[in-house]
Amino acid sequence: ASVAALDGRVPATHKVADRHAAVPRPTLGAFENTPDTDPSVEANRQAASRILQRAATSQLGVESVQASVIRDETTLRAVISSTKEAGKAWGKLSANYRATVLHKVGDEMERRRADFLEVMAAEAGKTIDQADPEVSEAIDFAHYYAELALELDTIDGAEFTPSNLTLITPPWNFPVAIPAGGALAALAAGSAAILKPAALTARCGALIAECMWEAGVPADTLRLLQVGERQLGTQLVSDPNVDRVILTGAYETAELFRSFRHDLPLLAETSGKNAIIVTPSADLDLAVKDVVSSAFGHAGQKCSAASLVVLVGSVARSHRFRTQLLDAVSSLTVDYPTNPATQMGPIIEPAAGKLLEGLTQLGAGERWLIEPTQLDATGKLWSPGVRDGVARGSEYHRTEYFGPILGIMTASTLTDAVDIVNEVDYGLTSGLHALDPEEIDLWLNTVQAGNLYVNRGITGAIVRRQPFGGWKKSAVGAGTKAGGPNYLIGLGSWVSAPARQ
Ligand code: GLU
Repeated sequence: ASVAALDGRVPATHKVADRHAAVPRPTLGAFENTPDTDPSVEANRQAASRILQRAATSQLGVESVQASVIRDETTLRAVISSTKEAGKAWGKLSANYRATVLHKVGDEMERRRADFLEVMAAEAGKTIDQADPEVSEAIDFAHYYAELALELDTIDGAEFTPSNLTLITPPWNFPVAIPAGGALAALAAGSAAILKPAALTARCGALIAECMWEAGVPADTLRLLQVGERQLGTQLVSDPNVDRVILTGAYETAELFRSFRHDLPLLAETSGKNAIIVTPSADLDLAVKDVVSSAFGHAGQKCSAASLVVLVGSVARSHRFRTQLLDAVSSLTVDYPTNPATQMGPIIEPAAGKLLEGLTQLGAGERWLIEPTQLDATGKLWSPGVRDGVARGSEYHRTEYFGPILGIMTASTLTDAVDIVNEVDYGLTSGLHALDPEEIDLWLNTVQAGNLYVNRGITGAIVRRQPFGGWKKSAVGAGTKAGGPNYLIGLGSWVSAPARQ
């Protein structure tokens, strides 16, 4: 059977209610995805090893971060209102002008690719093979949103009114693509942006801001800020001058933001508990490879990561899948990214709370197929863990752990497997390994997740090809997908033009 790559497709019956559904998609321009660095080229490998050496003592971005720290409320208020004023001016510029600046931002990020890689390794423990495509994604956002901006002014008789001020609160796990994507989207849609990078990856955020300023985004239109957690909620999110918030983070954070301001216009991509189903018709070798990369890439610290694999029928009963999985997972090289051989790097902070529980405790009926172990005194370097016998409805089945752990569940039929997947509150990514077209159809029409992947890994959505966003508790607020044709549409308000006489 021929197997189409159905990446990013959402079955019609499962579309997230889109407030702007009536607005047609903009047409696509000349956009092309930016290529990643080719590691088969010797010079690139040498450059990578120099980057990793520099990462050990890297100081890039430190100055910008220091300049962005705000401690008192009066200064913060003044910054918010002056950024809002700047946003009004930015929104009046032509879309052409904004698009030109955004293209320059993309070029500047490409020029500083090595700097990004250095700081991503230093701050987030990212290996080059994880970090490099993320820089490409950030660059893609610049060029893609620049093109969408040109289509935004009037669509189907409705006029777009930009917001003046958008706050972007990204996570640390994609410390370049997610903050850059949010800020670029806001700027493309004619709004000023306050970028508040995650504290753990503040320097990655600073490099993004530096690229934007260098490319001609005025310093008062793109603000880099660092505020404390408490200040973020009580003084920033709750400030009525903030028109919109783009959040990527835990579902609980979205709820917290709403508790500070219940009518907050929020575009949030939140938690996930993602599964890959493997049926007897699957190419098992391919399935093992994709499960391993989806579960343990960036040590499982992706909203999109596979946290469960659901084995169906004879795949569940035989030893073959488990044996190959065990082989593949236990052969991963786990170390810091400064070692170029590293396949799985550290977790960003010493394991604690839920993640530590997940790495050290089993639920009823579970056993370790591969037991995770702490590899050094930092608490950050853990070997990957695979737990077998995860029970339906158990804690592990339903909870996001955000680290290098994979759970195995079993189902007698594909329909049962889909039920198991759908019982989870979240619906971000989902995968199926099956070569039978009927199984693929059944799954596509019943599984509940924003991003669906057939016969490939479930992480690494690519701008424009796989617009990225969740369903159920994986999204809060406007249901538009990042990197997709409708994303900017959700970043302002639409007014219908008066009917022609
Ligand atoms: N867009 C990323 C991916 O497709 C995931 C982003 C996230 O973890 O929030 O892997």
